[in-house]
Order: sequence, then structure tokens, then C-alpha cells
Amino acid sequence: MSQSIAARTTELLTRLGVESDAYTGGTLASFSPVTGEEVARLKPHSAEDTRQAIASARAAFEAWRTVPAPRRGELVRLLGEELRAAKDDLGRLVSIEAGKIPSEGLGEVQEMIDICDFAVGLSRQLYGLTIASERPGHRMMETWHPLGVVGVISAFNFPVAVWSWNAALALVCGNAVVWKPSEKTPLTALATQAIFDRALARFGDAPKGLSQVLIGGPDIGEALVASHDVPLISATGSTRMGRIVGPKVAERFGRSILELGGNNAGIVCPSADLDMALRAIAFGAMGTAGQRCTTLRRLFVHDSVYDALVPRLIKAYGSVSIGNPLDSGALVGPLVDGQAFQAMQDALQAAKAAGGTVHGGERVSVGPDTAFYARPALVEMPEQTGPVLEETFAPILYVMKYSDLAEAIRLHNAVGAGLSSSIFTLDLREAETFVSAAGSDCGIANVNIGTSGAEIGGAFGGEKETGGGRESGSDAWKGYMRRQTNTINYSTQLPLAQGVVFDIE
Ligand code: NAD
Repeated sequence: MSQSIAARTTELLTRLGVESDAYTGGTLASFSPVTGEEVARLKPHSAEDTRQAIASARAAFEAWRTVPAPRRGELVRLLGEELRAAKDDLGRLVSIEAGKIPSEGLGEVQEMIDICDFAVGLSRQLYGLTIASERPGHRMMETWHPLGVVGVISAFNFPVAVWSWNAALALVCGNAVVWKPSEKTPLTALATQAIFDRALARFGDAPKGLSQVLIGGPDIGEALVASHDVPLISATGSTRMGRIVGPKVAERFGRSILELGGNNAGIVCPSADLDMALRAIAFGAMGTAGQRCTTLRRLFVHDSVYDALVPRLIKAYGSVSIGNPLDSGALVGPLVDGQAFQAMQDALQAAKAAGGTVHGGERVSVGPDTAFYARPALVEMPEQTGPVLEETFAPILYVMKYSDLAEAIRLHNAVGAGLSSSIFTLDLREAETFVSAAGSDCGIANVNIGTSGAEIGGAFGGEKETGGGRESGSDAWKGYMRRQTNTINYSTQLPLAQGVVFDIE
């Protein structure tokens, strides 16, 4: 079995067009969480490589920014076509490298295809406003211009989709892209670059270096973050990383889109459709083995429905299938590594110490000892304290009782992160309160849907310690362009704004 995953990886990489030189003989080991085995050894890029990549991206940007946006959209259309052709192989590689079950690995690639489609349409819709001028014979308007080199830093758990959310928009907006993927998932990044290069070759006359990938750890990310030639850093990962990256970019007056950790919660109200809530909670909390930024981590259940819902949830936790995502129909795959498993155990210990009753959470033996599978844990907590206040990137759901919705919303908002949230209710007043100004303080607030599984059409991101960035749909593209206000005087006079008079002889 262990040999077969390495062999499968090589076979997929070959089919995806990645040269074996790129993933053999290097010093950066890539492990598959499915078995914990090493599947490749890559050559990390150096600080000098990073400097050169930024310089060539800058040169590519200077040519690309003058290409008409709909023509730029053609490149992204071709990227979407290449992704469609490579979907099965890339989806499988995501499963190998990030441990996702097949439907989630494929779903991630589908998300890449969807954002390409979105960006192609967008390439004809980079609209500015025309604004009424207060001066006669004047016209005011807004123009959106390309920004420059966009540095993308991404996390292990969405190893390819996050790049596409950024790159598809950045490219139609006229920018170049330099991508630093997670050091835990470099292979899917190499494969994505090979797919992009095919689209580029078909496009024909795009400048070299328009989108590049740099393999390596935080040091490469730091070099990107420090560069004055990278006006925008889009960084996805932990709040810990964002606390370092955000101030460094701000120090040089760069722009950042920060997509950081979540501590997402749901509220189950007395009128909730409990069957629907059960399924949504199960997927939101256990899906992707709790390793989504939008994973449901806290649940407030009204005391009138607690006994009707929570025992059913505990049963689902006890019976959910856990296994090798490549060879079984399991719904829950592995944690990314031993550190993630240890963090889960530490959080469960802390929860017990704070009076919690833990259901599940134990290690499950699947394959060799080097793989870390765990039964998702549901923890009944007397109150929101200790580990409940933090994101532990593992499948732990803390469940608490509530009796008053205003108090549940207060507790819901009383954590550092502000990414995703949901309420289960059939009561219009409760639903509207939750999505109102006095409701959830998160970037995403759902009604009768779980916290995870967002569509690309909406702007994605969160508030507070989640970083405030927005990516993907809606008008998130504006973050990748610079806005210019133009005032055109077509009169023969020079009236000044606000009636100011400044007549010189
Ligand atoms: P991580 O913070 O450990 O690493 C993320 C990326 O940041 C990696 O590429 C890493 O090399 C880089 N990095 C780390 N330190 C850096 C530094 N000082 N300078 C520059 N780059 C640096 O996160 P992870 O473990 O890969 O991913 C899990 C975390 O990401 C969770 O907290 C999860 O909630 C979050 N996440 C958020 C979103 C979102 O959209 N909000 C999406 C996916 C994951």
C-alpha cells in the first residue's frame, strides 16, 4: 500500500505534465497524510529565485496591463478548459496530498473551474462609476487599473482552490501572480502550474513569468511579503501567520488580503428542522476531518431541542466512516500530520479540564502508524471557555445549551475570529435578527445551511482575527485593482470645487 501511493503520485504528476526533475532529488519532503509516507522530494526555491521571480513577474505585468481585459479573460477561459481536462487527476492528487475524500478533492478543482468561468465574464465587467460633477462642463468618473504583482500565500487545506480564487481575478484585472503554496502541499501547486502553462501556450502571446510558483517554507513567504515590487499580498492561513504578515505589508504601505482562521458557530433554534440541521452540522463539523477554515466548531442548541438533537449527533459521531480517502467510501479522512493530532488531543484535554464531556476524539488505526486518523469529537460544554475560544484545526465540535437568542448571539460573537456562521430556524424574526446589523458579526452568515461549503459567486472572507479580506465573487475583484478618480473639464472655464476663488492676473 505505502509504495502504491508514491507510485500513484508519480503517475498522476506525469499525466498532469510535471517533469520528474521538479519533485525528485531535493531537500523538501512531501508527505501524504493518507499513509504518512514520503511521496516526493522537491528542490525549494532560494531567496535569489524569489527575487528573480518577482522581477520577471513585474516585467510580465508591464506588458499584460496593456492587453485588453476581455483578451486577458481568454487566457483564464483556456485555464478553465485545461482544468476541466485535468479535473480527475488533479482532484486525486489533492486527495493524496491533503487527505481529502474524493468528492472533496474533485470539488476543490470544480471550484477552480467555477472561478475561471466567473472571471471570464468579469473580464468584460470591470466597471467604474460615472459621477455627477458639481462644476459645469465637467465629468467625473472612476477607472480601475491593474495593480502590479500579486503575491499569493496559501494554506495546506485548500491547496489549489485558493490560488485560483486569487489568480483568476488577478489575471483578468491585468496583474501578474507569484504563488507561495504551503510547504505541506507543493505537488498540487506544481501540477497547477503545469496546467496553467498549457493554457498559456495555447493563448500564444502572453508575457513570460505572468504566473509563477515558488516552492518553500515561510522564508519564501517572508521574501514576498517584504518586496516593494509586490503591491498586494493575499495570504491565506492561520491567524498566527496573519499577525506577522499583516503588519509587515502595512509597514511598507502595501495592500493585503488576509484570509485567516475561523472559529465558526451555529445556533439551533426551537423551530429548527432538526433533520436538516443534523445533516448540515455533521458535514460542517466532520467534513474534511474538521480542516476547513469554515468548519463548524461551536454549536449553541436551544434547551427545548437539545435532547432531540444532541444524542442523534453523538450517534452520528460514533458511526461516521473514517478511512483511507483513496480506497474506501469513508466520509472522514486523515488529519494532515501528527502535530495536528496532538493539537486535537491537547484541546480535548483542556476541554475536559474545563468541565466538558468528550464523545469520540480517539485515534483510529488506518494503515501505518505514520498516518493520523481520529474519530471526530463532540464535546458537551457547560460554558464557552478555554479551548472553545480558539480554533483547533481538527474535528472538534463544542456543543452548548442556550435559552435566550440574544444571549446566544452575544456568545456566538464573543470569540476572536469572525469567518462563518449559521442559524437553523423556521422563525422569520430569528433568521432576520441573525443576519441583521445586531446579529452575527461574521463575514458569512447563513440560514438553514451549515457554515462550510461556500459558493464562488459571493465574496469570501471574514472579520476580526480572520483578517477582513475578501476573495472570489461579488466585487472582490476591486481588491486586485487600483481605483483612479478622473475629472475631465470640457468647458472653457476653470471653476474650482467648493466655490473657491483663486483668480490671478
Ligand atoms: P499556516 O499559517 O501554517 O500556513 C499558511 C501559509 O503561510 C503557508 O504557505 C506558510 O508557509 C505561510 N507562512 C507561515 N508563516 C509565514 C510568515 N511568517 N511569512 C510568510 N508566510 C508564512 O496555515 P496552515 O496550517 O497551512 O492552514 C490552516 C490555517 O489556515 C487555519 O487556521 C485555517 O483556518 C486557515 N485558512 C483560512 C482560510 C480562509 O479563507 N480564511 C482558508 C484556508 C485556511
